[in-house]
Amino acid sequence: MDDAPAAPADSRPDASQESRARPRPAIVTVDDDPDVSRAVARDLRRHYGENYRIVRAESGEAGLEALREMKLRGDLVSVILADYRMPQLNGIEFLERAMDIYPGARRALLTAYADTGAAIEAINVVDLDYYLLKPWDPPEEKLYPVVDSLLQAWLSSDHKPVPETKVVGHRWSARSSEVREFLARNQVPYKWFSIDDQVGRELLAAAQTDGQRLPVVVAPDGAVLIEPSEPDLASHVGLATTPSTDFYDLIVIGGGPAGLGAAVYGASEGLRTVLVERTATGGQAGQSSRIENYLGFPDGVSGAQLTDRARRQAQKFGAEILTTRDVTGLEVTGSARTVHFADGSSISAHTVILATGVAYRKLTAEGVANVTGRGVFYGSALTEATSCIDEDIYIVGGANSAGQAAVYLAKGARSVTILVRSDSLAKSMSHYLIEQVENIPAIKVRTCTEVAEAYGTDHLERLTLRNSMTGETETVPAQYLFVFIGAAPLTEWLADVVERDDHGFVLAGPDLLVDGRPPAGWPLDRPPYHLESSVPGVFVAGDVRAESAKRVASAVGEGAMAVMLVHRYLEKL
Ligand SMILES: Cc1cc2nc3c(=O)[nH]c(=O)nc-3n(C[C@H](O)[C@H](O)[C@H](O)COP(=O)(O)OP(=O)(O)OC[C@H]3O[C@@H](n4cnc5c(N)ncnc54)[C@H](O)[C@@H]3O)c2cc1C
Repeated sequence: MDDAPAAPADSRPDASQESRARPRPAIVTVDDDPDVSRAVARDLRRHYGENYRIVRAESGEAGLEALREMKLRGDLVSVILADYRMPQLNGIEFLERAMDIYPGARRALLTAYADTGAAIEAINVVDLDYYLLKPWDPPEEKLYPVVDSLLQAWLSSDHKPVPETKVVGHRWSARSSEVREFLARNQVPYKWFSIDDQVGRELLAAAQTDGQRLPVVVAPDGAVLIEPSEPDLASHVGLATTPSTDFYDLIVIGGGPAGLGAAVYGASEGLRTVLVERTATGGQAGQSSRIENYLGFPDGVSGAQLTDRARRQAQKFGAEILTTRDVTGLEVTGSARTVHFADGSSISAHTVILATGVAYRKLTAEGVANVTGRGVFYGSALTEATSCIDEDIYIVGGANSAGQAAVYLAKGARSVTILVRSDSLAKSMSHYLIEQVENIPAIKVRTCTEVAEAYGTDHLERLTLRNSMTGETETVPAQYLFVFIGAAPLTEWLADVVERDDHGFVLAGPDLLVDGRPPAGWPLDRPPYHLESSVPGVFVAGDVRAESAKRVASAVGEGAMAVMLVHRYLEKL
């Protein structure tokens, strides 16, 4: 039956009773040319038929349908091979949608030589593992080695069906938005249900709650959480929150690019490393829809993809990653550096890397606080995008983060208006993004404009905009306002421990020297190392460091370099 297109179940006469009871994982192949489709399936079955079911489909739609059916039955899918040139859905579009159904399946694209450019692009768009050139003869040389390595990768990963979290809420409930944002940024798969819909109401009834307090979260283990706190939610959706020991070689505080970079290098070089993150790994970069200037990704990479890879890489090397742990204090006792958490507990280490980055500044205009999370969002463009379809959106800010959000939201919104205080974007946005913004008709840029007031009872309804040159005001209807107005380091908790500049950024290395001498109280004969703070053994990397570059690449680089200095420090301890 495998020769029939889109036949997910293996009903071959020789399939044993045992394998029917526990179906073999599937390898799915999709090609619109029936001859090619049959030939791929034949070659795959010859080599893998004993351990895997070969499922083939002759269009992207049929392939997706087969995947959905398998998903409903709880079947495993190991590898998906798709032809690039197909009518309606091409191979990349098909794989992109297939990822939503089976995110753990390994993916390969079948291409003609002329289409290798598209295949390379797909490496970033759909996190493609391989592309295979047609014809693949002899399969022993060209097909099987690739599929073997895909299967190997799939087998070594946790390929169990992804447990699903259900969130029932309302789009104008601020806490519902925060919970969705938290799950999305931590890459926890979830399904969203509105209490306005039948299914949402049924879920509330099943959970025996009236929906007065939202959101209601049904965790994969069946637990019903009403308006849960982030630590509570984290512990139910499989995110680690508790350290495995109380003493480490290295504690990294902050899970953005700098912290993840430090964790990868620290753990890979044999340091007992723990990374502690307040909200979600990825930091600011995790909220970026497309980072286009990071080395090695010529077609850009989404912050979520970069974060997912970095986190897996750090964990592969043995780094512990704790989320929802807010660090509120740093104490120095002899050679131990103790990090205190908001709940009163603590862990210690020989060394610490501060990688706490920066946080968005709040928009202080009148009325904004009342509707924050209910139409006004700080950096949540990715999570809220689906709610913004066909809406008129406003974005405040003139830097790259605002430009990226505009480009991303313009894919679905009716219009996107960027409000910039200065008279030109050129002062704050990269040239390549300005070009993109200018080429999208749905995006308008209003320079010399600021938000004077926000209005709304249940949610944002109107904005008053002020021309900063003339003082003229205009009130416009608005349901969504995304704010990207610069950021500040939140380092008050470090005030009595390390030296900071007037804005709260942590001083390190040469920036600490006064007339060529280390700061008062510096206890060692040598001056502070390049990324070392005013406390020996406490290093700083990324955006939180005074005079840092505020870029993903430099943050990652500083994380790696700080680890090198940690080794130097430990050698002399
Ligand atoms: C939307 C957006 C798009 C961007 N696009 C680009 C781009 O295209 N290219 C580019 O080069 N740069 C870009 N940037 C800038 C880039 O993301 C930052 O420079 C980079 O993320 C800095 O990394 P970091 O690790 O130093 O800090 P952050 O990314 O700010 O991460 C710091 C982390 O520390 C955590 N933390 C803070 N305090 C504590 C605490 N007390 N306890 C525990 N955890 C704590 C935070 O929750 C956060 O996760 C963008 C930024 C934004 C916001």
